[in-house]
Amino acid sequence: MSRQRNIQFKNEVLDKVSPTFCAAKWLDSTIWLYSGLTVSCHHPPSHKIDLNEISENPSAIHNTKEKKQARLEMQQGKRPTECEYCWKIEDLSHENISDRVFKSLSYDANELQQLKETHFEKNINLKTLEIAFDRTCNFACSYCNPSYSTRWVKDINENGPYNDLNTDQRGHYVSTHAASDPYYGQETNPYVEAFWKWWPSLKESLKQLRITGGEPMMSPHFWRLLETFKSDGNLNINLAVNSNLGGRDELIERFVKESHHIRHLEVFTSNEAYGLQAEYIRDGLDFEKWKLNVEKLLTKGNVKRLHVMMTINGLCLFSMTQLLDQFLEWKKRFGCENPTFSLNIVRWPTFQSPLALPPHLRLETVSRLKNWFEKNKQSDLIIDYEFDQLKRVIDYLERATEATDGAAPQPKLEKDLKRFLVQYDKRRNKQYKTTFESIVVDWLESIEV
Ligand code: SF4
Repeated sequence: MSRQRNIQFKNEVLDKVSPTFCAAKWLDSTIWLYSGLTVSCHHPPSHKIDLNEISENPSAIHNTKEKKQARLEMQQGKRPTECEYCWKIEDLSHENISDRVFKSLSYDANELQQLKETHFEKNINLKTLEIAFDRTCNFACSYCNPSYSTRWVKDINENGPYNDLNTDQRGHYVSTHAASDPYYGQETNPYVEAFWKWWPSLKESLKQLRITGGEPMMSPHFWRLLETFKSDGNLNINLAVNSNLGGRDELIERFVKESHHIRHLEVFTSNEAYGLQAEYIRDGLDFEKWKLNVEKLLTKGNVKRLHVMMTINGLCLFSMTQLLDQFLEWKKRFGCENPTFSLNIVRWPTFQSPLALPPHLRLETVSRLKNWFEKNKQSDLIIDYEFDQLKRVIDYLERATEATDGAAPQPKLEKDLKRFLVQYDKRRNKQYKTTFESIVVDWLESIEV
């Protein structure tokens, strides 16, 4: 039914404005203020924000020349090449719904037509913004990298690059990714300054604001932003915060307190394994403290929804069902939306993908997930979206052959995973041998590198 509605919206509303129209090009943005990069959604490659432009016009942290050019092309019914992800999906079948439809669904024909008739060079205020002030983070998760975590930067600075990871063409662990944070160590930077100059006008149009990082609670700008929610009283903005919920107690307490000044707050935290195995995978995590912080937010904070993002890598699959049991326990106490969960499969670096597991361990993890699914499939506490995501991971483990196009075969991925873990253990004072169950340890020990 809803699929039918989406197709109808595409044919009768969106495509009538222009067959290549997408509201995200005007009204949505992700901006990494520490690196000075922006993009309209997660599909096109990000592009650089022009420092000269923002000195005159702070909204150019979103209204870049590149986006304006793409707007013009969409107004003319042409396809901006950067949006090839959507065109590929649409070209497969005219019944396919690409993300440009989902990104435009919340606007009516008049609003979309107005955007079409607006001169392409006009600066537009956003409705939806995802923003990262800096990459300061207290965690250095095994599947993350220095682009998103200063603790990862510290590892590379102190110990040098990880060696001999032959399948990782993108070099996730060989440098500090200094270019992604040119103002590292400084209190502010011109992109952050432009954001604050734009904020008084931006806050009037914004409907959804999501703060990511690094860990937002470690950024002074995050707290400054929460102050504005308090001082403005009734900001009509739904705020979402991505947090590892592993910060110092006083920061968590402060967040709980500030949450009462926010009309609509959603918290997105991450975890995909249980107990010691989770602590191994997410270096910096204290699992019991994370559980307590989730419960603190749900009992004392003003949180409308708490969501757990699960990053599905090879090692998490051996304790994942215990974590799912924990979610069920919380759902019983706090309702089916607290927490909700989603499962995102790691694709890069490819040796962190679940496809690095050998066939017998893939079968074992599928069997555990299927058993959990069977046991809980009648539960009213699990929403359809969550069941779909679980099915998708089971299907992936059963059928997928390549983590990414042209990825190395499994025997090469497992060698790199072993090489990585040996170096990770040494640098982080960990031991995979005493953390994981014997079937995993036996497999890792059997890999010759
Ligand atoms: S057309 Fe597709 S790829 Fe381009 S901004 Fe819209 S949703 Fe993103």
